[in-house]
Amino acid sequence: MRIARHHQQGTQEHRISEALHPAPDYRPTCEWPEDCTVQWGHGLVPAVPFFEAFPKGTFIRGEGTDIAEAERNAFDQYLRHVACDHVWGRQRPGGELYTNGAAFCRKCGGFLARKFPPLRPSGWWRKPLSSMEVWHLRSSEGNAELNEIMDRKYPETRESRRLTARQLRLRYNVFGMSGDEEGGE
Ligand SMILES: [Zn+2]
Repeated sequence: MRIARHHQQGTQEHRISEALHPAPDYRPTCEWPEDCTVQWGHGLVPAVPFFEAFPKGTFIRGEGTDIAEAERNAFDQYLRHVACDHVWGRQRPGGELYTNGAAFCRKCGGFLARKFPPLRPSGWWRKPLSSMEVWHLRSSEGNAELNEIMDRKYPETRESRRLTARQLRLRYNVFGMSGDEEGGE
């Protein structure tokens, strides 16, 4: 497992965390996968001990009377998640329909952030870029260093980032940017 940086002494994240809301000393005991980041602490309001894990593509949170119990609770959820032959849907169990691509398993309640393509109204792209999208396009096309860092850190999203940049470029060429931009290119 990877311990989140704000739990590691000597990091800037640790110094900030100590100043704002110190996390209790704790050593995880469960067999989390190697590439799984974990973190823990006491909530602010209410002050419930929690343990959070980020296995590939998902997010698990356990709570308990102390952090050890919260971790066991989270790990039980993780084991259910890996043992399940999931049935994914866009509906949160007992809740609303998610259109952003998130998926919930009807059997174990597991969650994946990007399981489905997002649902969008037909023709959603036939409009000028917002200033946020213009910024996104500029950094995708103009910031080679950032792209390289992202590719290294998140190789699995490389293709979808390239696709997003191409779509933004095409929309920009056809529809331009919305009126609130100064000057333009
Ligand atoms: Zn499942």
